[in-house]
Amino acid sequence: MTQNSTVETADILAGLKKVRSRRWLLWGVILIYIPSMLVALELQATSRVMGWLFGIWVLLLCVVVGMATVVKCPRCTKPYHTNGPTFLPVRKCVHCGLPVNYSA
Ligand SMILES: [Zn+2]
Repeated sequence: MTQNSTVETADILAGLKKVRSRRWLLWGVILIYIPSMLVALELQATSRVMGWLFGIWVLLLCVVVGMATVVKCPRCTKPYHTNGPTFLPVRKCVHCGLPVNYSA
């Protein structure tokens, strides 16, 4: 493991802020699914419209998963949530264990 000891704490905190915002985006898109489908049903959307909404949601999900996958750990500079092909949205870096709520 390559640890860069010259990385400033401020950089780590700024990097973690980015990691946290990507995580919020991811959970936000996942959680918005059920209420948005309920609203669409309430508005008596046709199955065609429902299909479109579902397609848009899947697309959005792909984008936010992609964004959460590529976000780098500010300490070890490896992908924060990804170890090889495995995407793990856990609360610490899957490489160096830097917690998402780390504070100096
Ligand atoms: Zn790390």
